[in-house]
Amino acid sequence: MSAYTYNPKLLEHYLNLDQGGKIQAEYVWIDGDGGLRNKTTTLDKLPTSVDELRIWDFDGSSTNQAPGHDSDVYLRPAAIFKDPFRGGDNILVLAECYNNDGTPNRTNHRHFAKKNMDLVKEHAPWFGLEQEYTLFDVDGQPYGWPKGGFPGPQGPYYCGAGAGKVFARDLIEAHYRACLYAGVKISGINAEVMPSQWEFQVGPCEGIEMGDHLWMARYLLVRVAEQWGVKVSFHPKPLQGDWNGAGCHTNYSTKEMREPGGMKAIEAAIKKLSLRHNEHIAVYGEDNELRLTGRHETGHIGSFSSGVANRGASIRIPRHVANKGYGYLEDRRPASNIGV
Ligand code: ADP
Ligand code: MN
Ligand code: MN
Ligand code: MN
Ligand code: MN
Repeated sequence: MSAYTYNPKLLEHYLNLDQGGKIQAEYVWIDGDGGLRNKTTTLDKLPTSVDELRIWDFDGSSTNQAPGHDSDVYLRPAAIFKDPFRGGDNILVLAECYNNDGTPNRTNHRHFAKKNMDLVKEHAPWFGLEQEYTLFDVDGQPYGWPKGGFPGPQGPYYCGAGAGKVFARDLIEAHYRACLYAGVKISGINAEVMPSQWEFQVGPCEGIEMGDHLWMARYLLVRVAEQWGVKVSFHPKPLQGDWNGAGCHTNYSTKEMREPGGMKAIEAAIKKLSLRHNEHIAVYGEDNELRLTGRHETGHIGSFSSGVANRGASIRIPRHVANKGYGYLEDRRPASNIGV
């Protein structure tokens, strides 16, 4: 791996230059392999909504999203965030991908998700996502681990403090602030059970906002980590052996569940979820079977279970929700690479 070094000191001067009233709009999209891509255009003025942004295009044959002979894929702006890297009035634009004939690109899950969210609008569905991820150095070794060796067994790392117990706290802090600045509804962070594994939470978000904010938080993480020379892995079981996998626990509620007596609606939803376990597992992330082993705080992939405060179940009802009798449920099955 060549030693590319990011030079924040030199860059600072240029980022402080006057931009002559122009706005930089960086379009961000999901590629054919679940990676994130971006390109930037100059605008004459700051848009107040996505409708004021142009539909743009890119070479889909370079991103595994179209064949070379018909390579134009279109970017339709979906959500605007502030750009924490360029600062000022510059923006990030999350965009959906469409084919030349107007149909959604095979990678565009947002198109269908939005339709479903619109159908159930009256229930005001809320999502709170717990995105776990693992950091690696450019040579592919878990970040901060002893060269050619292993850190001590799991135990002191989860929500840890102190040298040898936490890794890359500076990067994580930078990401947290970048999200807040951008307008991403990040609701918290914590160090995870495996060293160099972390979690951020997004939400509660209503409807399609859930995906928009999760993906922009992922994008900001990958961009911040790039500056540190660190790779982000969303793989659900990045390391074999006695190391926790990475999930994306999905906390969910409807208006009815959030009101007194809501436990009835929570239980009804769990019953419905139980009848479609396999269909849901099929879209909860690749390689999830490596993670959902029934060990390391997971329920086994082959069976559906639920319980109050049970971190070994498919669905957990948080203790405080059970005590109050309303609130939300936590689906613990989705993998960290869900939607990728
Ligand atoms: P855990 O104890 O499982 O680690 P976290 O604190 O990491 O829980 O995450 C809990 C998530 O639940 C947060 O992202 C929060 O936004 C979300 N949440 C809280 N209330 C609701 C609700 N009513 N509906 C959906 N999500 C919710
Ligand atoms: Mn070109
Ligand atoms: Mn959590
Ligand atoms: Mn966690
Ligand atoms: Mn959780």
